[in-house]
Amino acid sequence: MKAHNFSAGPCILPQEVLKQAAEAVVNFDNLNLSLLEISHRSKNFVAVVDKTTALIKDLMHVPEGYSVIFLQGGASLEFVMVAMNLMKAEGGKAAYTNTGTWAGKALKEAKNFGEVIEVASSKDKNYSYIPKGFSIPDGMDYFHCTSNNTIYGTQIKEFVKPNCLNVCDMSSDIMSREVNVADFDLIYAGAQKNMGPAGCTVVIVKDEILGKTGRKLPSYLNYQIHIDKESMFNTPPVYSIYVMMLTMQWLKDNGGVKWIEGVNNQKAALLYKEIDRNPLFVGTAAVEDRSNMNACFLLKDESLKDQFDAMWKAAGISGINGHRDVGGYRASMYNALPLESVQVLVDTMQALEKAQG
Ligand SMILES: *Cc1c(COP(=O)(O)O)cnc(C)c1O
Repeated sequence: MKAHNFSAGPCILPQEVLKQAAEAVVNFDNLNLSLLEISHRSKNFVAVVDKTTALIKDLMHVPEGYSVIFLQGGASLEFVMVAMNLMKAEGGKAAYTNTGTWAGKALKEAKNFGEVIEVASSKDKNYSYIPKGFSIPDGMDYFHCTSNNTIYGTQIKEFVKPNCLNVCDMSSDIMSREVNVADFDLIYAGAQKNMGPAGCTVVIVKDEILGKTGRKLPSYLNYQIHIDKESMFNTPPVYSIYVMMLTMQWLKDNGGVKWIEGVNNQKAALLYKEIDRNPLFVGTAAVEDRSNMNACFLLKDESLKDQFDAMWKAAGISGINGHRDVGGYRASMYNALPLESVQVLVDTMQALEKAQG
């Protein structure tokens, strides 16, 4: 039996996607060749890149004037590339929100290229909430936020509309809910949380914002070069892109982002209801900012840990240990996690309560 996989990332992918992906390793497109042994410039693989791009544009309703590109180096390299491509070479300034580990790393990298203004932070309460009602000074080259804080289980429900370019790290909730791409100038996401396996980063960028900083850029770090070369500037991560294509096709066939948003709402509601009801547990994130992707919770009585851990392991649950910075448990409920898996976790939490009498 397949484990109930709550891993925070890399994480669960749809079963049928994994089967198709395994087949392509042996025989891709009936070529009697593996996907792994053909040229990335072959027409069969170029078709994969084109289809993946088209699926992302379709699923996210990407407007005209935006490009979708596939890069490597993870979201972590985007922390660098965003600043290099958007911050003015002379007197560059950008506004960042500091809402967790990833947001903090993005902010730190940007400091290598200009002045960074931390316009909001939730560090005072161990990143357990999303700061609101802050202002962004005039004259910023861009504003940067993190839509979902994977480690702390908080998620932006209402995006700020800044008076400058708007950049968002959507690594851990892209494609999990509908967003209006036109509200952003650049969105980036490591694929390994909702779109596919590790190894590929998706960047959605408004074409007209590029090339305006006066900064000389190394070729690989220049978004425009990847746009001009249609993600074939160098050898792309062929297998990651292929599995992402299968995952996007799975999402489209099932009803798209609107459909998965409904399922994700249901899963999160089921788990949070139990966290709030069960006297043995407590959630760590502010209720109004809770993430639909990563639910963080603690046992009120740490002495029950061994018992609870043995119970969820016996129930076939995997990957719910909390991040070391928060402790306790983190149940990640990405797109491919079925509602039934959340029910198994809820049943286990209730079984622990019963066992206490
Ligand atoms: C996982 C994650 C990252 C880091 O991604 P890498 O691909 O490992 O560089 C960045 N931001 C967020 C929000 C994440 O969840």
